[in-house]
Amino acid sequence: MSPSRIDIAGVSVSPQHYINGRRVASSESFELFSPIDQRPLGRISEGLDEHVEAALQSAGAAFPAWAGLTAAERKPYLDRFADEIGRRADEFCRLESTDAGVLLSRMRHGVVPRAKLNIAWFAQHALDLQNQPIETDQAHHIVRHDPAGVVAIITPWNAPLMLSTWKLGPALAAGNTCILKPPEWAPLTCSLLADAADAAGLPPGVLNVVQGTGAKAGARLVGDPRIARVSFTGSVSTAKWIAQAAGANLVPCSLELGGKSPFIVLEDADVDNAAATGALMYRNAGQVCLAGTRFLVHENIAQKFIDAMRGYVEKLVVGDPRDEATEIGPIIHPRQMERVQGFVQRALARGAKLLWGGDRHSFGAQYFQPTMLTGLEQDDEIVQNEVFGPVLTLQTFKTDAEALELANGTDYGLGGVCYGQTDHATDMAQKVRTGFIWVNSFGIRDLAAPFGGIKRSGIGREGGHWSFEFFCDVKDVVVPKKPFRASFSQR
Ligand code: NAD
Repeated sequence: MSPSRIDIAGVSVSPQHYINGRRVASSESFELFSPIDQRPLGRISEGLDEHVEAALQSAGAAFPAWAGLTAAERKPYLDRFADEIGRRADEFCRLESTDAGVLLSRMRHGVVPRAKLNIAWFAQHALDLQNQPIETDQAHHIVRHDPAGVVAIITPWNAPLMLSTWKLGPALAAGNTCILKPPEWAPLTCSLLADAADAAGLPPGVLNVVQGTGAKAGARLVGDPRIARVSFTGSVSTAKWIAQAAGANLVPCSLELGGKSPFIVLEDADVDNAAATGALMYRNAGQVCLAGTRFLVHENIAQKFIDAMRGYVEKLVVGDPRDEATEIGPIIHPRQMERVQGFVQRALARGAKLLWGGDRHSFGAQYFQPTMLTGLEQDDEIVQNEVFGPVLTLQTFKTDAEALELANGTDYGLGGVCYGQTDHATDMAQKVRTGFIWVNSFGIRDLAAPFGGIKRSGIGREGGHWSFEFFCDVKDVVVPKKPFRASFSQR
């Protein structure tokens, strides 16, 4: 059985579930390890059928009252929730850098402020949406955004706090009650989120956190007919299971999945700038869904680009993510390390050439060198499949048409990067088949903008009204402007 609290990096956090406003232990638990040094961090409660059932009942019971509040009435709860996240900023930073290996500096300056905003922004968005009727000659249409019900939120280990709040923000603001199933390899910041919600006075049952594995807690949750929406971020293979389970009940799913995004460097690009951005693709040890991982570089500038990027890569500081100076941290888990290494070894065995890296890093057992492979064919496994580690590929092209063919030549379609003279790069970017793409930049995100993938990279869009509407039953209440008399000639 897991204890009620454990101390990690000086932070007291519960390894138990949070159901109906209370901590709940499980008779089964699993050991959590830090990716930094494989140190055991504590035993986490396994979510069994009984816990998922209790969370479903708690969220179901809390729904009528939470859904019955107006957006203006819900907003103070969510603003307090955001404030409580902010108050615990330092704890969130220390926890996630210890259990997920995310850079402390990134947590501090990027993730935690964003997590807070994810909650507060959607509370305001819900308020702004009120009373937007459609007027026609015939009728007054009251368009309502009713909450869908009890929603399941399932998140991956590479950005647990950011992605959980990115989904909880719109789900809660729309008036749904939520069951969050955090990633089993990095579950702690989601537990601290429950503490923040509790301190903010969210009514019991509005947010429930059921810890556990995907195979047990996750699968039981998404297959339950009482779930009104499933919002999932993770791998393509898991998404196929989830879509089937939810599909059996005709429950809408939002699926944010993996990527194999192109990073195009056109002949007229600012090569040095492109190379500096290129090195950023190793951030979070390459465990970033939206990173550009396939470099497509015009052959006339390829050598210049390689030399420039090598210069930036050599300067990257590999180390302990809790050290503010570190730029590349660990790979999350030994299984992920095996996966990364396997991809590189198979590519080399097929004749790929290393430009740099290629092996484990001397800093620690779960560290891999920033790696670049070239000499590849478009149908090579490493060009076609997501590695999710610090391993990139580089191919060259002669014409824009060839660049587009390579860029669009995988089953994925999440994001992309295109460097070149602005008009040229913008034109090319519009022809790349992905859900988003950055021109001469990387990582600029706005909560109001759509985010998501096409092809195998996902179904649906998150961000702004896209997220919000996913969690709503949009309803048209039609009130005629003139007296209505029934007649068979009317449609
Ligand atoms: P994963 O699919 O293995 O697991 C994700 C979550 O699903 C975990 O919480 C897991 O416990 C749960 N799960 C597993 N099997 C389940 C089942 N049968 N039913 C219900 N839940 C189940 O993914 P991962 O390895 O944790 O994350 C890495 C993947 O996530 C990569 O492919 C990455 O590209 C993707 N990702 C995508 C985005 C995006 O926004 N598109 C963002 C981050 C990560």
